[in-house]
Amino acid sequence: MPAEPPKPKPAPSGPRRAMERLGLLRPIDLALHLPLRYEDETRLTPLREARHGQVVQVEGVVVDCRVETRRRRQLLVSLQDDEGERLLLRFLNFYPSQQKSYAEGRRLRVRGELRSSLFGREMVHPHCKVVDEDTPLAAALTPVYPTSAGLPQAYLRKAIEAALPRAPLQELLPPGSVPRGLPPLREALNFLHHPPPNVPLATLEDHSHPAWQRLKFEELLAQQLSQLQSKALRAQHRAPVLRGSKLVEQLLAQLPFELTGAQRRVGEEIAQDLAHAQPMHRLLQGDVGSGKTVVAALAAAVCIDAGWQCALMAPTELLAEQHLRKLVGWLEPIGVKVAWITGSVKGKKREALLAQAASGEAQLVVGTHAVIEDKVQFANLGLAIVDEQHRFGVAQRLALRRKLAERGLEPHLLMMSATPIPRTLAMSYYADLDVSTLDELPPGRSPIVTKVFALDKREAVIARIAQEIGQGKQSYWVCPLIEESEESDLQAATATHAELAERLGPEQVGLLHGRLKADEKAAVMARFASGELPLLVATTVIEVGVDVPNASLMVIEHAERFGLAQLHQLRGRVGRGSAASVCVLMYAGPLSESGRERLKAMAETTDGFEIARRDLDIRGPGEFMGHRQSGADLLRFADLQEDAPLLVAARAVAPRLLAEHPDAAQAQVQRWLGAKAELMKA
Ligand code: ADP
Ligand code: MG
Repeated sequence: MPAEPPKPKPAPSGPRRAMERLGLLRPIDLALHLPLRYEDETRLTPLREARHGQVVQVEGVVVDCRVETRRRRQLLVSLQDDEGERLLLRFLNFYPSQQKSYAEGRRLRVRGELRSSLFGREMVHPHCKVVDEDTPLAAALTPVYPTSAGLPQAYLRKAIEAALPRAPLQELLPPGSVPRGLPPLREALNFLHHPPPNVPLATLEDHSHPAWQRLKFEELLAQQLSQLQSKALRAQHRAPVLRGSKLVEQLLAQLPFELTGAQRRVGEEIAQDLAHAQPMHRLLQGDVGSGKTVVAALAAAVCIDAGWQCALMAPTELLAEQHLRKLVGWLEPIGVKVAWITGSVKGKKREALLAQAASGEAQLVVGTHAVIEDKVQFANLGLAIVDEQHRFGVAQRLALRRKLAERGLEPHLLMMSATPIPRTLAMSYYADLDVSTLDELPPGRSPIVTKVFALDKREAVIARIAQEIGQGKQSYWVCPLIEESEESDLQAATATHAELAERLGPEQVGLLHGRLKADEKAAVMARFASGELPLLVATTVIEVGVDVPNASLMVIEHAERFGLAQLHQLRGRVGRGSAASVCVLMYAGPLSESGRERLKAMAETTDGFEIARRDLDIRGPGEFMGHRQSGADLLRFADLQEDAPLLVAARAVAPRLLAEHPDAAQAQVQRWLGAKAELMKA
């Protein structure tokens, strides 16, 4: 009996096609399509006990059934349960046939939300079934599946019901490898599709039930196995052995500062990796300003000393240029030949630089991702360094590693990031990565004070900048991205620049944005870096890596529009010298909840690890890491934060499983990750 309002009948292939669109093709896909929630049709609630607002199933005999036409045409059915309590059913849309089937004397089982008022109890459009006194109740909770238009719940239920016994769910894991208390996989899935009536719904809905835990464990284990596999694979690859100390000593001798303890330690870790014939795959993480560039220079020196080439890539030209300046300053005096390749180097000059890279004459090649283009050939690339690695995608990292492929070797890979990775993420996404951490800032830095103001304090902020200029200090003024459009983004920065130039004097204010040509950008940066220009108005092009130690005030307009990691990066542009620095975050209200959280985090801490932790809380792992490069979409059931204990368990089991039952391990990875496992290998 149709319980829902009349709908045109879909074409016979409609639901099947809708199912395919949801990716429900094979029995296993259907078996893993899990309920969103459940309906309890396993029991009847006496009307006397049912409360207002509760969803209940009740049964009774029709005592009256009529169509009313006052105000709006509707079918009204009065039901009386076995204790003599009454319930009014109201149907605003109905088939004529419904009136017949709900005739007086019929017994109905109905399910819906109970409303009760002075005029009695009522349900609007309940699910209705004509029954007799011994029609059995459902034996299990009724699953409600995620579905889409054109795929009725009942159709999907039947399809899943049919697929479940056919799905290949045989146990792959040897006994003892699954945490105690978790059911076998098939049992877990049968349970989740048809939970018995007495199970506490809350544990199903928050996914804490052992059946759910089993599923999540399976998935996390597959992920860990896949990472171990790619690590083992990489260990079979060969890389050049890079050893050398002469250049390193020369470099250290002429640095204008002493290395911090952390820089020395990390430099040593990297040198050890480079001395092995297996490709290094190391992430160097360190908060903004912790001094990663000099560590990169040390690694480059080892590589070049050993007679191999080194490439260093940065995500933007501005940053690449700055690295270039620094590295040239440090390395050229000790005889290293440095070349520069970006998208904006063109024509004859580009040809010449390409030739230098290809012949091996250029010992260090610095640039943007243009460096990994196919046309750029190296004579003998020994080490590739990727700065701000989260800006690069998986494909780019793979392309880099192929640069030596023709010789059967892979270059060593050092990735640098100012966005520290919280522990669970590091364990999960980077299980196959070695991590070094610079946990110490160079000495003499004074902490940055962060102030959060509403935009109406703008005048006072401008007055403060005038004061700073008077004292020979330098400031940044960052304008936000508006509606993700470069055009309006530019307009805002240009207008602010004009305004501030008028107020403070045109010779005091520079403008930096993404549309400037590379040499124009470089010219403005050079004037700012030399101290000639006291104030730099900029878009987020200055977000990563820009290093001008004399700058001590950072103003960010519409700070509420920036992400937390971005704010932290921007703030990291100041506090690089010995002067006390201030970061002013101006916002326009009303703030969204997450906007408020972000500004609060910024005001409360300057610790990059703490910022990263809060950012993860606010955004969740997928957003945090960037879907493309993290493979965040790989996890369907597990949640990295909530399921950290399962992740720990999976991590403990994975190595033994891979060693002792390699076939089972392989099958496990295939079952849960399939083609997606390739993503993890980058
Ligand atoms: P980040 O880790 O953010 O890339 P940088 O490499 O740009 O940091 O370094 C920040 C600033 O600190 C630079 O001006 C750099 O020259 C300086 N610096 C790096 N190491 C030291 C050190 N050991 N002592 C003093 N200054 C240092
Ligand atoms: Mg840097």
